Amino acid sequence: MNRKIYQCFRCGYETKKSNIQNHFNRKKKCTRHKDCQYTDEQIKTLNEAQFNKDDYVKIQNGKIAEIINNNTIETQNNITNNITTQNNIQNQNIINIHINKLVGFNDDWVIDNLNENQKSNLLVTKLMYTQLIKMILENEFNHNVIIENEESTHGLIFKKINNEKKYEVISIETLIDESMKKLHKQLTSIYDNFSIENDNYLADNSFQDHISKQKDAANEKINNYINDKNTHEQVLKIIKDIYITNKDRAINNQKLVLEHNKYENGY
Ligand SMILES: [Zn+2]
Repeated sequence: MNRKIYQCFRCGYETKKSNIQNHFNRKKKCTRHKDCQYTDEQIKTLNEAQFNKDDYVKIQNGKIAEIINNNTIETQNNITNNITTQNNIQNQNIINIHINKLVGFNDDWVIDNLNENQKSNLLVTKLMYTQLIKMILENEFNHNVIIENEESTHGLIFKKINNEKKYEVISIETLIDESMKKLHKQLTSIYDNFSIENDNYLADNSFQDHISKQKDAANEKINNYINDKNTHEQVLKIIKDIYITNKDRAINNQKLVLEHNKYENGY
């Protein structure tokens, strides 16, 4: 008889069913394995999926992405269903909290969630704009841009003006220009903070040199974007594609905003 082996997708621990259940029920969370690339939510999904017969087989056959994707679609559907069917106050409160945190495109993106590693990466990469926008989009409250597909000439941005929360049509050209400006501003502040925050490095001239070179590179990049036609087209496409990839998550926020506005206006 071949006994089933279960695993913890956070720490990589493998054992039989009863043990793994104890492991999952531990009060103190186990330590993330250094090779673990899943989000907390994905770990939870995978850990639970093992107890489902079909999913167990999928996991054994390496079809992990399938499980994660299915679950994401299911969660999204659940969110949508919840919105449309349970128009209750509690739900509205949750939506309100979410929407209050949702960042308007007319404001700076929230970058508090960037960890030291991510910030350090921005110091060594030549692709600082691409990397920063990707990091920014890891935070759902920054999902304020919707671009449908590569053919789109216009996109939608979420805007917060005083108490008004709305979506506005914007040309791709303006949208990417504004995005680049915002990214440049935030990159500059991240680089400047490096100089201020890292006392250890303050005495280190070569580190200060490096930061200022990296800032120069970031400046040069945005200047090329503005002045050089080829660079402009290339960058525009790259940033546009990143937004397109994030479309579904941005649409989720839009659904919440529409629902919120509907409720506010008493429909
Ligand atoms: Zn574990």
